[in-house]
Amino acid sequence: MLTLINPADESSFGKLEEDTAGTVAEKVQRATEAQRKWALTPLEKRLQVLTRFNEALSHERERLARTLTQETGKPITQARNEVSATVERVRYFIDNAARALEPETVVAEGDTRERITHEPLGVVANISAWNYPYFVGTNVFVPALLMGNAVLYKPSEFAVLTGDHIAALLTQAGLPPDVFTVVSGGGAVGEALLSHPLAGVFFTGSYGTGLKVAAAAAPGLMKVQLELGGKDPVYVCEDVDVTKAAASLADGAFYNTGQSCCAVERIYVHHSIAKSFIARFVDTVRSFVVGDPTDESTYIGPLTRAAQLTVLDAQVRDAVAKGAQLQCGGTRLTRKGFYFAPTVLTDTTHAMQVMRDESFGPIIGLQSVQGDEEAVALMNDTAYGLTAGVFCGHETRAARILAQVNAGSAYWNCCDRVSPRLPWTGRKHSGMGSTLSMVGIRTFTQPKAWHLRNPG
Ligand code: NAD
Repeated sequence: MLTLINPADESSFGKLEEDTAGTVAEKVQRATEAQRKWALTPLEKRLQVLTRFNEALSHERERLARTLTQETGKPITQARNEVSATVERVRYFIDNAARALEPETVVAEGDTRERITHEPLGVVANISAWNYPYFVGTNVFVPALLMGNAVLYKPSEFAVLTGDHIAALLTQAGLPPDVFTVVSGGGAVGEALLSHPLAGVFFTGSYGTGLKVAAAAAPGLMKVQLELGGKDPVYVCEDVDVTKAAASLADGAFYNTGQSCCAVERIYVHHSIAKSFIARFVDTVRSFVVGDPTDESTYIGPLTRAAQLTVLDAQVRDAVAKGAQLQCGGTRLTRKGFYFAPTVLTDTTHAMQVMRDESFGPIIGLQSVQGDEEAVALMNDTAYGLTAGVFCGHETRAARILAQVNAGSAYWNCCDRVSPRLPWTGRKHSGMGSTLSMVGIRTFTQPKAWHLRNPG
């Protein structure tokens, strides 16, 4: 039994009955039977169900956003944004499902044809994170369902009510029983799920857990897709509008209280503008309203998990001990709830944890660089490879720099941005495989190669 805690005031708002090895096994069995029928259901019908689900997401936005705020501490305005943007993403999947399933004749010569069709994988596990449960959940289960798979959805233990809401809305939308099933609990329940011979596991979470997931999937050669952490860098060149760049990057670093896989986690500034850029950046961060996430004016709420307070505290102490300047923040707030003051560290180096390890909170390090070459070397000096950005006046310069950075997404004059039309993909310890875009829809299918020869 898990106790559900509101991170804003540490009050308990319920208990979660966790699945057991036995109930997980029953759910897998039922999903296996349901998947066979769902795969035979015409795409038109599957599209209708997911369209009704999407309409419900839109209609129920306020209720869903309030639950999200209660269980994760996400500021209410940002919770509403997440639900609204999820509706757009789901629409992209609906609009492109038929195209992804389109069979292709690649050769038609004489009496011989060669064709490719796309079949569902089968029953897949969707093990999810809490920081954007609607985004990272729908990235997987919506295209998976559209392609004809059944989904065993394990929400994070920090976003369980969101998982229940999703399941209820899918049922109301007419999804047949057992095609989408919530599996409830923490890591041990995730392990129990992966002990079954599933067709694939689509995981969002930390690198450490990603390794365990990949190991659990290996004996059965289960398809594995991992969306993991990041330490996303941005390089600010000397020819930018300093005020605009500082405002955009402060938002990219601190939105969702810094708990985004693609949050800006470190900034390298050209030495010639470092002083003015840092001054504007710190002013912007100081202006952020920290407080009760249910308050409309709050921009920074509590952290979702109390454990992360210790990580942030250790990163600050390590950086300051090694010579960093603390411009603002640096400590936990003295109020109830898991609040950490928005923190800016300057004069950082790569000897400090804050410049190389994922922070996943309202904290950032800034470092001055001599030019493009040094910036590229530092941007690559991490185990992660999710996104990287350059703020500068010329696209050719940004493209030249970003081509040298080993990351799945490249941003020019923008950051912390995800598009349903582009693949979302991490390199190195940021993961493997892609969600979103046509690549991220087709990933829920397997190709069949048809060699066809007319008789005679
Ligand atoms: P986490 O790794 O602690 O947990 C993720 C999920 O794995 C949870 O549902 C958890 O219950 C489950 N789990 C834990 N142990 C397991 C095991 N042994 N077997 C199977 N499942 C297990 O991560 P989190 O704290 O929920 O999420 C934060 C992390 O997720 C950050 O590192 C963040 O960068 C990353 N993230 C990445 C993306 C992306 O798109 N790349 C998106 C969101 C979050």
